[in-house]
Formats: sequence, C-alpha cells, structure tokens
Amino acid sequence: RAKESGNSYRLFDPQMDSEAFDKMAMEHDLRKALERGEFIVYYQPYVDFRTRRIVGAEALIRWQHPERGLVPPLQFIPFAEETGLIVPIGDWVLRTACAQGKQWQEQGFPLRIGVNLSSRQFQQEDLVEMVQAALQETGLEPEHLELEITESMTMDVERSNEMLTKLKQLGVRIGMDDFGTGYSSLSYLQKFPLDRLKIDQSFVRDTHMLTHESAIVPTIISMAHNLKLHVTAEGVETPEQFAFLDAQLCDEAQGYLFSQPVPAEQFSKLLEERMTH
Ligand code: C2E
Ligand code: CA
Ligand code: CA
Ligand code: CA
Repeated sequence: RAKESGNSYRLFDPQMDSEAFDKMAMEHDLRKALERGEFIVYYQPYVDFRTRRIVGAEALIRWQHPERGLVPPLQFIPFAEETGLIVPIGDWVLRTACAQGKQWQEQGFPLRIGVNLSSRQFQQEDLVEMVQAALQETGLEPEHLELEITESMTMDVERSNEMLTKLKQLGVRIGMDDFGTGYSSLSYLQKFPLDRLKIDQSFVRDTHMLTHESAIVPTIISMAHNLKLHVTAEGVETPEQFAFLDAQLCDEAQGYLFSQPVPAEQFSKLLEERMTH
C-alpha cells in the first residue's frame, strides 16, 4: 500500500466524502507546486504619507498554476495552513522576499519588506532559527524585515510574548496585521513588543463618509501613536481616503491607489519612476 503512487486507494474509502478528497488532491498539488517552483511572490508598495515615497513592500504569494492560471492566496493558503504545508511554503516566501529586499537595497532602494506569518508558522518552535537563517542566507539586515502577525495568532499571550521577544532580539520588526478585526484591546497591545499596526481595509473603505468605521480610524491612529507604534492603512483606493488618513497623521498607506501587488520586475519599475519623477 505504501508503494502505491498517489492516493488512489483512498478513492474507495466509503468514509471519505468528496470535500475530503478535494483537500487531499489540493495537498498533493501544493506539494508538487512547491517542488516545481510554481509559487511566485508579488509585491505591493507601502507609501509614506509625508514624502509620498515608496518605503516598503509587502510580499504576497500567488500560485502560477499550469492550468488554472494565477491563483490568489485565499484560495490555497487556508489548505496549506490546514495541512502544515504553510511551514515550508512560508519559509520559501520569507527567503524569496529577503533576497529580493537585499537586491533592491543594493540597487539603492533600502525598503522595508513585510512578510506575512501564518499561525502555524508562529507555533513552530524553530521559527526564530528559520528567520535567522533567511536573513543570514540573503544578507538582508534584520531591521529591513517586518513580520506581519494577526491578533488571532496571539491568543496564548504568554507564549506569543516569548516568541515575539525572541524575534525582536534578532532585530526584525513586528507588525500587527488586519488590526481591528480581532479582539485586541489597548492593554493587550501594550503587552507585545510591536512596531506597527496595520489598520484593516474594512475600516479604511468608508473613511470618506461619516460612518461608524471612519470614526474608528482616528481613534486607532492616536492610540497607536500613544503606544509609539507606526500605523499603516491598508486598502487605500481613493484620493479621498488618502487625504482623510493623511489628516489623521497616519504614517503609511498601502492600496490600489498606488499599485496592486505586482511581480518584482514591475515593482522595480515603480521604484525607478518614483526616483525620477
Ligand atoms: P493581507 O496580509 O491582509 O494582505 C493584503 C491584501 O489586501 C492583499 O490580498 C492585497 O492584494 C489586498 N489589497 C491591497 N490593497 C488593496 C486595495 O486597495 N483594495 C483591495 N480591495 N484589496 C487590497 P492578497 O494578495 O489576495 O492576499 C490575501 C491574504 O492572503 C493576505 O491578506 C494574507 O493574509 C494572505 N497571504 C498572502 N501572502 C501570504 C504569505 O506569503 N503567507 C501567508 N501566511 N499568508 C499570505
Ligand atoms: Ca499582511
Ligand atoms: Ca492585512
Ligand atoms: Ca486582510
């Protein structure tokens, strides 16, 4: 049985419904994709409100599927998370993004590179070693790397604090992603050695109107600043949103107003345009 290729025998398991079979097929495909190098990292700029310059890039994975074309992360990251494949995939993203960051730095663009961590990675005992290895391998200085975590990953406050402290000792930055969608409170945030809050795009979307969400944003920004955290607004799509956030002293913006996530070569062109215009 162990010698059989693929998972064909399981087709006859009466317990297995089609959903479970889909998941197995997906796991198989993801494993192959990693081996074949079908994943690709796109980059989306972080723009500084004061200088209007690109100061960083978020690494966002895509799957260049041979038949299905470019597959967005939300269609496969949850499966990768479920199966644990997110650990090697996440490690690949980390090393790829650090290498790219180093290359841009050598070209005269010292950007901060944001890399998303999944909760599975955050639970890995050797996460710190993995991050350290990626930095050493690529030569990227730790202060140019920012790891993005989410509130739901930090339920175990004591353990999270321990892990974040170790990561901070490496010299990397920590950003709290999708802020406002979880359960965090001010006191809770103070417990962690964070550098940045990223305001979730659901709050940014309505900032041009006088809605509940738009009232929340200034509060988050001033709270974050009181805690000495930098603030990035996600999902900035319109000049009105940009102006509103600017007036609220938000530090950085990310969103389609500047650029969608793009392949590294295209991002390099954005960097060059911003240098000469
Ligand atoms: P995220 O970390 O919150 O990333 C921001 C998402 O918002 C990206 O979607 C980006 O394309 C999208 N976005 C940026 N600006 C705008 C805008 O102006 N309007 C709108 N409507 N959307 C905007 P994407 O690339 O599809 O990624 C979705 C999620 O997948 C990410 O959300 C992140 O949670 C996850 N993800 C992506 N890459 C990785 C990775 O390498 N590892 C892990 N663990 N998760 C990843
Ligand atoms: Ca993110
Ligand atoms: Ca986010
Ligand atoms: Ca999000």
